[in-house]
Amino acid sequence: MQIKGSCHCGNITFTLNWVPEPAEIPARACGCSFCTKHGGVWTSNPRASLAMKIQDPASVSRYAFGTGTARFHVCAKCGVVPVVTSDIDNRLYAVVNVNAFEGVDPALLRRASTSFAGESEADRLARRRRNWIGEVTIA
Ligand SMILES: [Zn+2]
Repeated sequence: MQIKGSCHCGNITFTLNWVPEPAEIPARACGCSFCTKHGGVWTSNPRASLAMKIQDPASVSRYAFGTGTARFHVCAKCGVVPVVTSDIDNRLYAVVNVNAFEGVDPALLRRASTSFAGESEADRLARRRRNWIGEVTIA
């Protein structure tokens, strides 16, 4: 399944290739302090690939906090956060915000809450390597 998404103004767009064809897509409302304020709901699949396009890189804030190992790509024009990336051992991993999807049947989304509070940095990076989208390009 090919899923398109973007921020509100279109500065950040992405195409997510989800294989195999999904019966459902996990949608995790993250309980971290940033996502609570922003309403971030994330999904990933280690077999998916993500092609991200940025029109105006100067208008993207790459916000990081805490361990500083994840970058929230915040559109500085419209404030939406479509993608989070993490650079682990020179490989880029990502999760995408299901709220930035376009034209995806909401019934496909299996919503749940998550909290990774208390996880060590090593455990966090290992989890991202296992679960996050492992093929990511930014153009
Ligand atoms: Zn935008």
